[in-house]
Amino acid sequence: MAKLIINEEACKGCSLCINVCPKKILQLHKEKLNTKGYHPISIIDMDACIGCASCARMCPDVVFTVEK
Ligand code: SF4
Ligand code: SF4
Repeated sequence: MAKLIINEEACKGCSLCINVCPKKILQLHKEKLNTKGYHPISIIDMDACIGCASCARMCPDVVFTVEK
């Protein structure tokens, strides 16, 4: 099973990764803010992640690490 590690502090909330996820399991955290003042990305269903790393390739800020 794939595991997605998210560096919330590096996220600037640009939403680019949300659209490329084939499983549609990424969304910006609604309440939480990181120290830069952005709502960071979160994964809503880790079990559904297929480890395709599309999100990691798209993110300009290297927020994601995919482990298989
Ligand atoms: S690795 Fe693929 S399936 Fe998992 S969150 Fe990223 S884009 Fe979605
Ligand atoms: S994880 Fe990367 S691509 Fe996704 S919203 Fe944050 S900065 Fe943008």
